[in-house]
Amino acid sequence: MKMRVIFLDLDKTLLGDDYSPEPGGKVVTALVEAGFEVVLNSSKTRTEQEYYRRAWNLMSPFIVENGSAVYIPRNYFSPKITGKFGVGRGCYRVIELGKPYEEIRVVLDAIGGGYGLKYYGNSTVEEVVEFTGLPEELARLAMMREYSETLFRWKKEGFEAELERRGLRISRGSRFLNVTGDTDKGRAAEVLIRLYSLTGPVESFAVGDGPNDFPLFDVVDHAYIVGDLNHPKARNISSIKELLEVVT
Ligand code: MG
Repeated sequence: MKMRVIFLDLDKTLLGDDYSPEPGGKVVTALVEAGFEVVLNSSKTRTEQEYYRRAWNLMSPFIVENGSAVYIPRNYFSPKITGKFGVGRGCYRVIELGKPYEEIRVVLDAIGGGYGLKYYGNSTVEEVVEFTGLPEELARLAMMREYSETLFRWKKEGFEAELERRGLRISRGSRFLNVTGDTDKGRAAEVLIRLYSLTGPVESFAVGDGPNDFPLFDVVDHAYIVGDLNHPKARNISSIKELLEVVT
């Protein structure tokens, strides 16, 4: 039997407006019980995703900050597989695909003033709570950035071309714009699918809701969009709960 790997977006897919882990947890548990490897693939940071992974008892790899890095718990794959890839860090092997946060900040700090850009790095925790609606505890985790920034607001257009000229990529998530190095959710998922394929045949699935999930839809066997956006390969579902009827 093929191993079934499902990549799940967080914001507006597993998480609603209150960011509570409870509703999404039921879906995650049902998927795990149905034999899926559940891989979170979100623009959220490592520490935010660790919060949800703890709540949902997930032990699988996860992809942070919009495809910027793949975190693989040590001993998840045999050392023969992961030993060759990435670097050891704490309890993980990490495969980095994006740019270090500091490099992104240098660019944003240099041009941000002219466009009135607001992002995590130049916002207080109170402002982050206001922009995102995150509870303060989670806002602090969102501020622990390793590879990307999030643009909440701007006063003047034209910054996107300027950021691209400086080697950064801008993508639209469910709520905000993300700034990363030259990567996306699909590129990171491909890396992980390749590792899973070393253990046997793999069937891959993905669920998301925003344009930044499109590169992910492109690289999996079965794709699902929560909501109204259109992607040539993805099937529209009304909510993540409907997913269970379709795939389990
Ligand atoms: Mg989303």
